[in-house]
Amino acid sequence: MSVTRIAVVGSGPSGAYTAQLLTEESESPIEVDVFDRLPTPFGLVRYGVAPDHPRVKSITTSFTEVFEETPGLRFLGNVQIGRDVKLEELRAHYDAVVFAHGAPLDRSLGIPGEHLQGVEAVRDFVSWYQGHPDQPGDAFALEGARRAVVIGLGNVALDAARMLVRETDDLRRTDIPEHIVEAFAASTIDEVVVIGRRGPAFAKFTNKEFIELLEVESTDVIIDPADLELDAEQRAHLDADPAARRLMATFQKAADRGSLGRAKTIRFVFDRTPVEFSGDTSVTGIRLVHTSEPSVSETLEADLALRSVGYLGKPLDGLPFDKRTGTVPSRDSRVVDGDDVVAGVYVAGWIKRGPNGVVGTNRKCALETVTSVLEDITAGESRASSAEAIDAVLAERGVDVVDWNAWRAIEAAEIAAGAASGRERVKLHVREDMLRIAAAARVPAHA
Ligand code: NAP
Repeated sequence: MSVTRIAVVGSGPSGAYTAQLLTEESESPIEVDVFDRLPTPFGLVRYGVAPDHPRVKSITTSFTEVFEETPGLRFLGNVQIGRDVKLEELRAHYDAVVFAHGAPLDRSLGIPGEHLQGVEAVRDFVSWYQGHPDQPGDAFALEGARRAVVIGLGNVALDAARMLVRETDDLRRTDIPEHIVEAFAASTIDEVVVIGRRGPAFAKFTNKEFIELLEVESTDVIIDPADLELDAEQRAHLDADPAARRLMATFQKAADRGSLGRAKTIRFVFDRTPVEFSGDTSVTGIRLVHTSEPSVSETLEADLALRSVGYLGKPLDGLPFDKRTGTVPSRDSRVVDGDDVVAGVYVAGWIKRGPNGVVGTNRKCALETVTSVLEDITAGESRASSAEAIDAVLAERGVDVVDWNAWRAIEAAEIAAGAASGRERVKLHVREDMLRIAAAARVPAHA
């Protein structure tokens, strides 16, 4: 019987769940190749989930078990689909291709001054402090800055605000590279202003994450009690949404607690729409208008402005793309081009449904995808080539594939670096260093 072969593009939570579920749910023999453009697996679990959220990050332990223990499941890191291998080639080599490459771009505000130095995408800030190999170590300098503003009321905005006030000792318990710990240690930022364009009832971050902010010992969390006097629209929203009611109750507690005279402050402002960044070459301020009363405006001084207003998918050659939503259009996870299904091509995760939900949401999303893939595959009728055939294509093009064993060697180096400084792990952040370790892992011990 021929083996069904599936390619999964992206090894973040949606790709990893897709690979796991494909191997678990298939009733006939199946092989799954998981591609990632990075030499490391797990995408946003490694580079998105906050370093001080180790419990969420620990999902990698179970993904690792799956990769280690599932015959026919491979990791092919450092391979960029669209550049190293074209979509049409993948379609020719596999019975199905699942795109699970997330939402690698970010929304911009489209206002004057956004190009100024110090007005940055929160994604770049997060990638920087997570030691992402695409971010230079000196991308952010926090020394000399006093006030940072974060625009947006989502969980990413809260992660960024919390990281900006975290104590150095807390950061040293995480896996972030030492030069990043030192950059935070040198930070002179003592106020972070989180700006929402709507009222507090419409904040999108979760109660749990907001409570966590209240628990940061060095920092006051300031909410103006007047902001909690809600208009009819916000009251109606609360009536309809229990999560918003829970969050509002915690806002009230924060407003009641007020300032405790702590060294740093995170202040929330609501009902403010950013209209312009000011500054010569670097940002010095942000002008905000009152959303509910646009004739009123104010300017807030700022040394760093992070826009955290949502992520966007990226078009890939040969794959339909909906610019409005930043996703690949699909029906039951099958990619569609207008009304037509693109045979054998599927999506999972943020590129399918947009950038929403928590890590676990991707399991349910991946299961929908896997169900459609397995429905469409006829057991025993594979038209795929072989693992050797795709390996030969990559080798011929000189692609330095990082396989699972090579990744484990990179991981071992990170754990060793951690042990040397009393930490569980310290991430490597330079791509060349990772590739060097990966290459050494491929050389037989007695060669
Ligand atoms: P998000 O939850 O969609 O929040 C985006 C925020 O940007 C909203 O407050 C939105 O306000 C605001 N916004 C959008 N356009 C704007 C504009 N032009 N001007 C001003 N504000 C604007 O997105 P996210 O924070 O990027 O998070 C993405 C997903 O990852 C979410 O599902 C999140 O829960 C998840 N995540 C979870 C965790 C965790 O569980 N700890 C951590 C990080 C991320 P409006 O509501 O007015 O549109």
